[in-house]
Amino acid sequence: MGYDLAITRATAITADAAFPATVAVSEGRIAALLDPRAQVDAERLIEAPGCYVLPGGVDAHAHLSLHTGIGLSADDWRVGTGAAALGGTTTMVDFVEPTPGQPLLEALAARLEEASPAVIDYGFHLSVLPDLDPGPTGAMRRLSDARLRELRGARGAGLATFKLYLAYAGNMLTDGDFVRVLAEAAALDALVCAHVENGDVIETLRQQAALDLGWARQREGRPIADLGAAILHALTRPPESERESVVRAISAAELTGARMLIFHLGAAAPTRALGEARARGVDHVYGETCAHYLTLTDDALRREDGRFWMCSPPLRSQADQDALWQQLRAGIIDVISSDHCPFSRALKDAGRQDFRRGANGIPGIEPRLSLIHHFGVRSGRLTLSDWVRLCCTRPATLHGLPGKGTLTPGADADLVVFDPQLRKTLEADSLHSAVDWSPYTGITLEGWPRHVISRGELIVRDQTLLARDGRGRFLRR
Ligand SMILES: [Zn+2]
Repeated sequence: MGYDLAITRATAITADAAFPATVAVSEGRIAALLDPRAQVDAERLIEAPGCYVLPGGVDAHAHLSLHTGIGLSADDWRVGTGAAALGGTTTMVDFVEPTPGQPLLEALAARLEEASPAVIDYGFHLSVLPDLDPGPTGAMRRLSDARLRELRGARGAGLATFKLYLAYAGNMLTDGDFVRVLAEAAALDALVCAHVENGDVIETLRQQAALDLGWARQREGRPIADLGAAILHALTRPPESERESVVRAISAAELTGARMLIFHLGAAAPTRALGEARARGVDHVYGETCAHYLTLTDDALRREDGRFWMCSPPLRSQADQDALWQQLRAGIIDVISSDHCPFSRALKDAGRQDFRRGANGIPGIEPRLSLIHHFGVRSGRLTLSDWVRLCCTRPATLHGLPGKGTLTPGADADLVVFDPQLRKTLEADSLHSAVDWSPYTGITLEGWPRHVISRGELIVRDQTLLARDGRGRFLRR
């Protein structure tokens, strides 16, 4: 009996090894990895000499149709998942963010509706936000008992990961509420994904900046003329306070036994704090970084139009970036995501006079795999297997996505035929996000996905999207 599809003459890359193989697919699943010299009987044959075949990318941190106080992010689910597919990502995890008082399951239903045009498979993290309004006292919002009790139902509805914030007024939890959610997550065997910065310190520094920029001059070693300087965004979110928050969050995980992934680590000191916890034997805390921390630095924030490169936590120094690559190699960081958060020029321009008003986020769902291949593998910092482990395999296991991110027979046939010779110059027009700028403009990458397969279906052929809207499935975890 023949296979539905076979990819021949390529080098298979897994999280453990790289070897020549024919990858055979039947009924949407990987059927076998065959000896490359064997004859193969398949309905459709893709010959891929000189290419790699790897598991479809898993991007477990992206924001499509993100509703914020200043506007909607640029990519809806049709455009955003199409861009993901073209870049070799076949599974993504986005967010359900209920408003205060909105039942969690109602928020999930609304989000599923928005996501219905998706062309790749997707899951959701549940953002657990404080919902008790303290009134005009100026105190922080707290988390109600009722909200905490809803988490069991959300877990049952397929949301296996909870997003918590220790920064952003309105979103951040008190330390006490953080511990309450962690204890509940541990009881429900959910993974906590945490935005770990010290929100109180950041708010104070931002207010201080509005009054006096003298301290910023000292820190930066040059005059900072006005609040339009985007470097203030980084100076008011210093790595020292991020490091403190990481220690605090890990302590809460140790106290409760919760499994916790620290989202978007971009600086050396907080990542070192995670490494120290691991070295002490704390084996249930994990780290994520994002492609932009590995490829861009805070020099971008010193540009006149630096507001475009604002994201949180901010881009850091070259020394931080160098350390981050070492920390990746040392295994302290588990996964690389995009944190794709595309805001238009218009929303970025809102921060032209005052950095505090600009939209915060960097697009990157499409070039993630290729950026890490180019700057990681080609430059000798990572092996091919490291690349696949960090971008495909480990995100799937950590976020509870069985059958994704692996070339194991029986797994979903989510595959990327990646051509290391294919060159691509990044700019807004050559990428498929709806956003009207790119943080990577002018960078030429060597290596790009040629074909992409999702559950046995060819959804990208020769860099052209073939996928039908709505073919993506919601992954209950
Ligand atoms: Zn994010």
